[in-house]
Amino acid sequence: MKFFPNDPPREFKVGRDGHITLRDCGRIELSPDEQITLVTQAGGQFDVARKEFGFYATPSLNGRLVRFGLRPALVKSPGDLFFILLVEKGSEKLFKEYMADEKQVLICWLDTVASLGAVEKALTGRADEFDSTAVRCICGGRRFQTTFKYSTPPAGEVRFKFSDTKDYRRSIFTCTTCGHMLSVHEMDMSSLYSGQYVDSTYGDAAGLKQNFERIMSLPEGKSDNLGRVDAVCDFAERNFGRWPAGLTLLDIGSGLCVFAAAMKARGFDCTALDPDARAVEHAQKTAGVRAVCKDFLTASDMGQYDIVTFNKVIEHVRDPVTMLARSRRHLKTGGFVYVELPDGEAAAAGGPGREEFFIDHWHAFSTASTAILAAKAGLRIVSLTRLREPSTKYTIRAFLVPA
Ligand SMILES: [Zn+2]
Repeated sequence: MKFFPNDPPREFKVGRDGHITLRDCGRIELSPDEQITLVTQAGGQFDVARKEFGFYATPSLNGRLVRFGLRPALVKSPGDLFFILLVEKGSEKLFKEYMADEKQVLICWLDTVASLGAVEKALTGRADEFDSTAVRCICGGRRFQTTFKYSTPPAGEVRFKFSDTKDYRRSIFTCTTCGHMLSVHEMDMSSLYSGQYVDSTYGDAAGLKQNFERIMSLPEGKSDNLGRVDAVCDFAERNFGRWPAGLTLLDIGSGLCVFAAAMKARGFDCTALDPDARAVEHAQKTAGVRAVCKDFLTASDMGQYDIVTFNKVIEHVRDPVTMLARSRRHLKTGGFVYVELPDGEAAAAGGPGREEFFIDHWHAFSTASTAILAAKAGLRIVSLTRLREPSTKYTIRAFLVPA
């Protein structure tokens, strides 16, 4: 390597209106297979490697670069000039402001298999697709792309007993037909919801109470739960043509029971169902909601209700069609089903660390797979909304009636 410094640096003006002064500090000459690493004060780094044929301009876009805190983005400047910029994680807002100033547009991020695969497919007609014999999408499809791969739990994922292992290996497959996303692994989750889930997520009864109180005290605009309560109340009022006080509601997989408690406060007659005995006791004692301890997939004599709700529940079961289909037998004539699902399609752009892809979710949905789920369960979508919730979750909300 040879370094030829410019002392003093050569200064020149750039930017749309020439308001940026760049200082050219020198030249580095590399021989083939030599590399240098450029670093940021915050720890971001990328290396440039010289090859006989030229250069590797960056490390792997969706691998090393991302691990070192930089997100590659393809942008376009006025005059049809294209650039790859590396954005430090956390500086996306600054980046957007810069692009606005310079009249640049973001073509796409280049940091995930999903986005790079889309580029590959668009440009070559090919994609890294494969047929699986072991995995089947809810649409019936067997053709997938691998969107994310994990060899350790992503930051923020709850460590369950079954997943706290050196053999943590998991992939997210995306169905090439409907965009549905499946979590594929061989760790044993079978006993998760009869104990481990509450143990690891909330600790114990005191943990349930503490989380319940924290969420119930969030103000409007900060609370996913209040957003959902408003949405269900509005729909109920339209569906039944009256203020819905006194209507009966069955909430499946009630967990912390914040939803049923808030709906009860709005005048609904709520019943909570959860397979964990502590969640049920918590619902009765802390949330003040009638509750039963049952697995919905095998529960009988549950009666019928005006509204059946699944708030971020269906993605936790292997077979979401069977679970959703069972809601029909508990629905009174004229009633509706409310389903809330992780929006995998929207979350994928946020990378493999998004909570929508955490291990307790077997599924993340697309709008197409939500429609397929509903149709296969014998239901019809009356309303579907995609939103980013105050907690930053990407979510699909759907109101369904029997088909
Ligand atoms: Zn599919």
